[in-house]
Parts: sequence; structure tokens; C-alpha cells
Amino acid sequence: MRSISILGATGSVGASTLDLIAREQDAWRVVALTANGNAAELARLALQFRPEIAVLADETRLPELRELLTGTGIETAGGEAALIEAAARPADLTLAAIVGCAGLAPVMAAIEQGGTVALANKEALVSAGEVLTAAVAKYGATLLPVDSEHNAIFQCLAGNQISQVRKITLTASGGPFRTWSAAQLAAATPAQAVKHPNWDMGAKISVDSATMFNKGLELIEAFHLFPVGLERLSIVVHPQSVVHSMVEYRDGSTLAQLGPSDMRVPIASCLAWPRRMDTPCEPLDLAAMGTLTFEHPDEDRFPATRLARQAAEAGGAIPAVLNAANEVAVAAFLAGRLGFTRIADHVEATLSCYAPAAPSSLAEVLEVDREARSRARELMENA
Ligand code: NDP
Repeated sequence: MRSISILGATGSVGASTLDLIAREQDAWRVVALTANGNAAELARLALQFRPEIAVLADETRLPELRELLTGTGIETAGGEAALIEAAARPADLTLAAIVGCAGLAPVMAAIEQGGTVALANKEALVSAGEVLTAAVAKYGATLLPVDSEHNAIFQCLAGNQISQVRKITLTASGGPFRTWSAAQLAAATPAQAVKHPNWDMGAKISVDSATMFNKGLELIEAFHLFPVGLERLSIVVHPQSVVHSMVEYRDGSTLAQLGPSDMRVPIASCLAWPRRMDTPCEPLDLAAMGTLTFEHPDEDRFPATRLARQAAEAGGAIPAVLNAANEVAVAAFLAGRLGFTRIADHVEATLSCYAPAAPSSLAEVLEVDREARSRARELMENA
């Protein structure tokens, strides 16, 4: 029996993970399940999966959770410190699926235990790339990428030497607005943006996918996970989301990982690693699909990947500023306070007015994140 903690258990990645765990429940002991404020769903999951502890980051919702779990023997806790304490509890595997930089401190707490962390929470790695990868090395932790693209690359690198890689190509679906004109993009609504053609995901990553910031964040994520240098990382738009990414070697061989657009495939690869496990996903039927297409990204209509590449090149605190400004802008867009194309404008404006020193600790990254958010909000109010 292996033990697992799931941070962000009530979200889309959390649900896919628990769907797989439920199919082999005797094989897993659940240590911690966490959420932000969704007490009812967390209680439902806790009753099904019987964790040691269920934690809500939003302490004001704790009484509701407590009431729902009274008499079950499951510990309950609330607040940021409790979330970090739960993430630090020993577990064979921690599935990190909190959305946004809010997941950074719990991810760091799990890494400091020296265990295996399956990372979906890309914003943590974008904001704290150097600090987080240094902690992985220092504490002897193992980082497994959950993101389908990075999981694909991880699989394509298995049994090969990274020094032999000529190029890594991240595929991008292009999102729901891939073919939209600039004028149509300017009028895009939150309801349209969250309707992804291939993937069923949380609201924030769906908007990121529509702006292509998701691919930009993934470029920075890949930069930290696979040390081949930024110039060897590229992006190609592949609307069918069947090829999840590719690695080209110096001899001209390109290895790709293909699979259905279902997060349970890369999650299963992390849960079973280094072995394999069954999933209920429909197998690919390439003949039925017929055609797979690839095209260059259009950085005029979707400037996010250009901004992310520039941020990765600049390094230091700049990726954290990019991420914070994007989180603020996406929240404003979802709340109907910012136009779709203003998201990238706003990130660019924040980046051009604010360049803090490179952070060297978790506390410094969190400080950069806090200040970048407040600058981004100020800029928005004064726009
Ligand atoms: P969701 O929005 O569906 O879920 C987010 C989870 O994080 C929920 O459990 C939520 O709790 C919790 N949460 C939100 N805010 C906080 C906070 N401030 N403190 C603690 N917990 C919080 O997100 P997704 O599952 O879509 O994405 C999770 C991460 O995985 C993101 O980083 C995303 O980029 C990445 N990812 C997602 C993919 C997908 O297919 N969805 C694919 C690849 C990567 P509550 O329900 O209580 O709000």
C-alpha cells in the first residue's frame, strides 16, 4: 500500500486523480486532501477516501467542514499554516494540484520531505523556478511532471541522455480562439474562453489556454524541468491535442508521446511511475481521426508566448512577476472587469514597470508575488 496526499483535491486535476485512486482504493492510503473553500465537496471526498486530514485554506469555511465530518475520526484544519503542515506530512506521493502561486508554499513543504511530488501546479515552478529546483536537489526529492506536455517530454526522455537532445517541442491546442480575428478576440467573453475544444479543465487554466499564457507558463516550466537551454525549446500549435509533445535527438530521431486528451493518462503515468497502470480512457483511434495538423503559433494575436520567453530569458524575479500579473488579469477577466486582449496588455504593462531583484528563498519569491499582484492591481485601477 502506498500513501498519497492530494493538494487541490476538489479541482479538475484532483478529481481526475481521485477517479484513478478510487479504482484501486485498496492500493492507496490517503494522508491529506485539501481545498480552498469548497467544504461540501472536500467533506464528500473525505468520506469516500478516508484521509488522515482534510484541510481548507480558507479558514472561514472550516466550521462547515468540521460539522460535515464530525464523528468520522478524520482530522480537519483550516488556514494557510494548516495547509502547509498537511503538505509536510510524510507521504510516498504528493499530487500538487492547487491552482496558482497559492500552491507554492505547500509544494515546497512537500519537497522538503524529500518524497515524490507530482506537479500539476505549474505556477509554483514558474514563480520559483530556481528556488524550487534547488530545494528538489537539496532534499533529494523527485519531481514528476503532471502537465500533459511535460509528462510527454519526461516519457520521451526516459532511457536517453538529455545532452543528446537537439530540440524539445511543446504542442499547444491553440485554445478555443485559435482561428479568431483580432476584432473577435477583443470581444471574447469568459463563458467562451472557458469552453476549451479538447480539454475539460478549471477556469483559470482554460483562460490561460485561450490567451496562450498556458503555453507561455509551460515554456518556463519546461525550461526548469528539462535543462536543455531556452533556445532548444519551441512551441507548435496542434489543434487535435493528440501529440502531447516531442523530443528531437541529435541523430534526427524525434520521439513523441500520443494519447487521448484526458488528464488521467499523464496522472496515471505519475501515480504508477516507474511502472504503468490501467486507465479507463478510450484508446486512440488514429485511423478514425485521419489527420493530425501542426502550425506555427501566431504571436501577433497571442503575444503571451513571446512575453513568457522574454521573462524566461530575463530570469530572476521576472517570471514570478509575469505569473502574478497574469493571475490578477485572469481573475479580472473572469469577473467581467477586463477585456480578453487586455490580459496580455496588462501583463506586459506590469512587466515593463516593475523589475525586482532575483529572489533566493521561498519567502523572497512570495514577497515578489505579493508586490507584483499589488502593482498589477494598481495599474488596472489607474488604466
Ligand atoms: P481547479 O480550479 O479545477 O482546482 C483548483 C484546486 O485548488 C481546487 O481544489 C481549489 O479548491 C484549490 N485552490 C484554489 N485556490 C486555492 C488557494 N488559494 N489555496 C489553496 N487551495 C486553493 O484547477 P485545475 O485542477 O484545473 O488546475 C490545478 C493546477 O493544475 C493548475 O496549476 C493548472 O495549471 C494545472 N493543470 C491543470 C490541468 C487540467 O486539466 N485541469 C492540466 C495541466 C495542468 P476549491 O475547490 O475549494 O476552490
